Amino acid sequence: MKNISILGSTGSIGVNAVNIIRMFPEEFKVKALTAKSNMRFLAEQIIELEPKLAAVYEEKDADILAKLLPAGLKIEIVSGKKGYKKAASYFNADIVISAIVGAAGLLPTVAAIKAGKNVALANKETLVMAGELITKPGFAKRVKIFPVDSEHSAIFQSLAGHKKEELTKIILTASGGPFRELPKEKFGSIKPNEALNHPTWSMGKKISIDSATLMNKGLEIIEAKWLFGINEDKIEVLIHSQSIIHSMVEFIDGSVIAQLGNPDMKTAISYALSYPRRLPIKQRRMNLAKIGRLSFEEPDFDKFLCLRLAYEALKEGGLMPTVLNAANEIAVEAFLNKKTDFISIPKIIEKTMLKYNNKALNGDIDQILEADILSREIAASFIGVI
Ligand code: NAD
Ligand code: MG
Repeated sequence: MKNISILGSTGSIGVNAVNIIRMFPEEFKVKALTAKSNMRFLAEQIIELEPKLAAVYEEKDADILAKLLPAGLKIEIVSGKKGYKKAASYFNADIVISAIVGAAGLLPTVAAIKAGKNVALANKETLVMAGELITKPGFAKRVKIFPVDSEHSAIFQSLAGHKKEELTKIILTASGGPFRELPKEKFGSIKPNEALNHPTWSMGKKISIDSATLMNKGLEIIEAKWLFGINEDKIEVLIHSQSIIHSMVEFIDGSVIAQLGNPDMKTAISYALSYPRRLPIKQRRMNLAKIGRLSFEEPDFDKFLCLRLAYEALKEGGLMPTVLNAANEIAVEAFLNKKTDFISIPKIIEKTMLKYNNKALNGDIDQILEADILSREIAASFIGVI
């Protein structure tokens, strides 16, 4: 039996994780849950899963949540940064599912790692911002980070039983998002609801927009670098619109090993939770004869500038990946709130990166958090201006 803490339990990954836990009550027990909004849904999860601790973002939500729970239900409700830290490092949890969206996931994930918890990592932003720090020897004592991102889970699975020295290349597949075939001239008129309509995956809003700009793949390149300790010149992106091959690895003898399956996050989540075992998940099975054809193409770096910016941020290193991520979050939020247009997203990010005075990491997480705040301010100054 594994005790689990879920950071971001009401989100797309959180709900899929709860689905897995529900399927295997003899394998998993939820000890802590966290959410920022939708207290009614969080209350339902608490009533079903009976965790010992719940953390919410705002203090007022702690009161709202308490009133939604039946009298006599034994649970500690905490709030704010301290509350999240408590949930992330909950003494009784064996593994923490890091499924908060965006930079907000960094501190709780770091708290989990520092508390010696294994992490099932969906929050890629943690590795984008602090991958260099977290993977430094000595930072994470005996802690294992299991990828939840489907591409990284595919790479993790494809690498199993092989020597890292024999790896020559990682091939990250990308669906290409909803605008793969749309001419660049039409990007200016893209509406948020069109960008949210992902062709193959059902996800939260932020990652859906990131998938439409291909920033998601950019963030995943950075995530892959730190997870697998491989240089960016050995990480390739391949557009594969069916999202059946979740990623591949190439070895020195020319062999390429891939992991395939229907696009369903439950496979990656369950593998992260039960590694090295596999669990018998009930889900629709892949039928290649029915799919018929798998297609591949090179990514278009001129059309999807975010992909190029991510490679640049990674090459520059230091605080630049944090700047890229923060500017992206501001630009995406502005786009969702109709304060900027789709085509301005990479422009805002690029201008922020140009304006930011990059520095090498000094080993302190506060330096990364300060860079995150400053780049948000810089990015916000470009909203509506470009
Ligand atoms: P989501 O928006 O559906 O859910 C986010 C969760 O985090 C919710 O529970 C929300 O209440 C909580 N949250 C939001 N803002 C917060 C804040 N400021 N502080 C604390 N909690 C906050 O997001 P998602 O699609 O589930 O994605 C979560 C993470 O997983 C992201 O980093 C994303 O890139 C990654 N991921 C998601 C998918 C997917 O299929 N959805 C796939 C791969 C990776
Ligand atoms: Mg992914």
